[in-house]
Amino acid sequence: MNSLVLSQLWHVLRVVSFPSAFLDRVRSIVRGFFRVKSFPPIAFDTLCLPRLQGGLGILDPGIQQCALQLRWLKPLIRNPLLPHGLVPQWFSTLLRSDVPTVDPLLPLLFPDCRPRNHRTLDSPLHLVLKAMDTLPRNFDRVVLNLSSCLILPLSSMISSMPSHPPYRPAWRDLRVHHLYQIESNLDILTPITPSRPLPRSVTLNRILNRIRDHTMVLHSILFRACIPSFVLAFQQPNLPIRDGSFIDLQPLLSAQLPGQTWSRLTTRSYRSTCSHQLSDARPIHPPLIPRQLRSFWSFALPHRARNVWFRGLHNKLSCRALLYRIMPSTVSSPLCTICQVSIETQEHFLLACPLKSAVWTGIWLEFFGTVPLRCSTLRASQFLVSALN
Ligand SMILES: [Zn+2]
Repeated sequence: MNSLVLSQLWHVLRVVSFPSAFLDRVRSIVRGFFRVKSFPPIAFDTLCLPRLQGGLGILDPGIQQCALQLRWLKPLIRNPLLPHGLVPQWFSTLLRSDVPTVDPLLPLLFPDCRPRNHRTLDSPLHLVLKAMDTLPRNFDRVVLNLSSCLILPLSSMISSMPSHPPYRPAWRDLRVHHLYQIESNLDILTPITPSRPLPRSVTLNRILNRIRDHTMVLHSILFRACIPSFVLAFQQPNLPIRDGSFIDLQPLLSAQLPGQTWSRLTTRSYRSTCSHQLSDARPIHPPLIPRQLRSFWSFALPHRARNVWFRGLHNKLSCRALLYRIMPSTVSSPLCTICQVSIETQEHFLLACPLKSAVWTGIWLEFFGTVPLRCSTLRASQFLVSALN
């Protein structure tokens, strides 16, 4: 599927932006291919998981399109002001089209810092910006020096408490330096009290009052910048130490790739990092470790048999208990049609039905005659716990 059917699409997706409806349509076509003669279906997001995480490694068109942007993104991140290559240099210039002195990493990281004319689908920057936004974002443990904190957008450093008015879209152009300044004696940020002649003083006072009455809260990056370094080191010794006076946004970039570096990032590791986007993916239960799944895929088996086994691992075999739950108007009873006694769960369907277990016993005696057969052994075999370990 990835290399024979979708490969032509990847060439186009690298350079052309499409509306999300188009990518949804491609997903729908691929999903339809896998659902032929297959019911109940396994969720498409599950099939997109890597094979060693329980999926089939199908490439999600949206995530793959973002992964293909690494070709431009990595040079841009390595050297934002003067990246190697014609296209990254063009992107670097476009990112600074509103404010030429701005660090290009800032609009890459924060949507509210992006040039206004490059926030739409037809912008040349659309795909690289989407690739940045698709990466997971957890800046909770990031420590920035004070100069770097001041240039951040206020909208990302302040959030409204639930049941209180949200941060207004009209305030998105505000930066931290509009409301905070460096107090050099203590080496911290302190709020500015905006007075009348100052532009936006009414808005800034309103935000400041909401911070003081706790209806708005500071992001941990800004909160830490308001605490002296020695206090922070005492309270949270596991965090990096705040240092330097030059603007340095690298800690934010590193936080987007926990346990990895940008220089070693590949399209495969990018897709793996973005697997949180596959929100409907369901892992195998009980879970299998990668070594067991490697055995499963390398085990010599006809495709049809492996297909049944794969569906069984995902608890998607069409036993009557599952069918009755999905479509009670069509399947009238969850009872096994063979023994007519027990509910036909997947385990009953495969192993536990008395009439079927007689067949299993016969097979077992023929191939493993010296080993006593127990139902738990068969169940363990299904999940490759004892059979392939
Ligand atoms: Zn039965």
